[in-house]
Amino acid sequence: MAITIPIRLAGAAPAKSAVLVPAGAALTSLPPLSVYVHVPWCVRKCPYCDFNSHATPGQDIPERAYLDALRADLEQSVPLIWGRQVISVFIGGGTPSLLSSAGLDELLAMLRACLNLLPDAEITMEANPGTAEAGRFLDYGASGVTRLSLGIQSFDDAQLHKLGRIHDAAQARAAIDMAQRAVSRVNLDLMFALPGQDLAACLDDVRQALAFGTEHLSMYHLTLEPNTVFAKYPPEVPDDDASALMQDAVEAALAQAGLARYEVSAYARAGARSKHNVNYWEFGDYLGLGPGAHGKLSFHDRIIREARHRNPESWMVKAMARDGSHIAESRQVGPEELPFEFMLNALRLKEGVAASTFSERTGLSLAAIAHQLEAATQRGLLDPDPTRLRATALGWRFLNDLQEIFL
Ligand code: SF4
Repeated sequence: MAITIPIRLAGAAPAKSAVLVPAGAALTSLPPLSVYVHVPWCVRKCPYCDFNSHATPGQDIPERAYLDALRADLEQSVPLIWGRQVISVFIGGGTPSLLSSAGLDELLAMLRACLNLLPDAEITMEANPGTAEAGRFLDYGASGVTRLSLGIQSFDDAQLHKLGRIHDAAQARAAIDMAQRAVSRVNLDLMFALPGQDLAACLDDVRQALAFGTEHLSMYHLTLEPNTVFAKYPPEVPDDDASALMQDAVEAALAQAGLARYEVSAYARAGARSKHNVNYWEFGDYLGLGPGAHGKLSFHDRIIREARHRNPESWMVKAMARDGSHIAESRQVGPEELPFEFMLNALRLKEGVAASTFSERTGLSLAAIAHQLEAATQRGLLDPDPTRLRATALGWRFLNDLQEIFL
C-alpha cells in the first residue's frame, strides 16, 4: 500500500505549467530527494481501495507504452532536479509486480541513467502476493530492488475474501518466503479493524507475520473511503473502542517482538525503518512519476507541489507529447500553507523531528507558529521540549486535533 501522500520546475527549461512567482520560502539548503513511480494497474479493484488503480483482467498491462511514457515523463522532469542526489526510489501502485522482469529492469536502468541515484539508495517495490513468482522476485532483486513491500493484509482466508483480495493465506506465506530469498529487506502490510474481526483474530495476523522474522510491518486501520464499494455497501466493522484496543494490543505485541512503532502505521526493528517513507514524514522532497503521481520539490526560493493526470491512457498520451501537458497541476505552496503541511507529516513520527527541521524545510521561522505551538503545548498535545517538534502520547492519540491547530 503506497503512502498516499504522496510537483515541478527550475533550471533552464521550466515545465509549461510551472509557477514562477517568488515564494515565501527561503531555503538555505535543499532537503533529501526521493522518487516515487506509480504503476496504475491491478488484476482487480479491491472494494476498500481509493488509490489510482485500474483493473486489468488477465494481468495484461500495456508495459511497452507505459515504459515509453515513463521515460518521457522522467526526461521532462530531470531539469527540475539537476545535480541532486536521490536517496530512495519507491515503485508503488496499483500492482507494480505486474511488471515483467525485463520491464522492471528497464525501468530501473532508465532511473539510473537519468538520476544521480546514491549507490546505497533504498529501492522499494510493492508486490501483490497474488502476482508473486519466485523467478520474477529474484529477477527484481538482481535488477536492483533492495526492498519488497508485500500487501498481505491478513492471513485469514475469509477476511481476504471479504477484502476482495486476489490471494489467499497460502499464497501470502509463499510470497513472503519468495521475497525474503530475493531481497535483503521485506515489509509486510497488514490491515486491522476488518469486517467482523475481533482482537484475537487481529493478534493472530500479527503473530503469523512475526513468525517470518519480519523486520518491518505496516499496520493499516481499514477505513471506508468515499467513492469505494465499501462506502456504498459498508461492511460491519469494529467500533472505535474495539479498534483502539486492537491498536494498543498490536503495538504491545510488536514491541515485545522488537518492532518499535515509529510512525502512526509503521513498526520496525532497529535499523530497518523505511528511508523513503521517513523522507516523506520529515518533509523531504519527492519527484512523482507516472499517472496520478504527486510530488513536492523545493528550490531555494519556493516549494512546489505537482500532480500528474490520473488516467493511465491520458497520462501516456500527454507524456509522449513532451509538452508538459501530462502535469495536471503544478503550484507553489504558499507560506501560509507550509506550517500545516509540515506538521501533517512530521507529527506522524513518534519521535517527531528536531525543531530546526521546520526552518530548514519550510524557509519559515519557528516564530511564525509560536501561537500554535503554545496552544498545542498547553492542551497537552505537544511535547514542551523546545528542541523537538513531537506529539505527546495524548497528541498522538488525537493527532487530527493536533495537526489542525496548524491549519
Ligand atoms: S491491490 Fe492495492 S492498489 Fe490494487 S486495488 Fe487492491 S488495494 Fe488498491
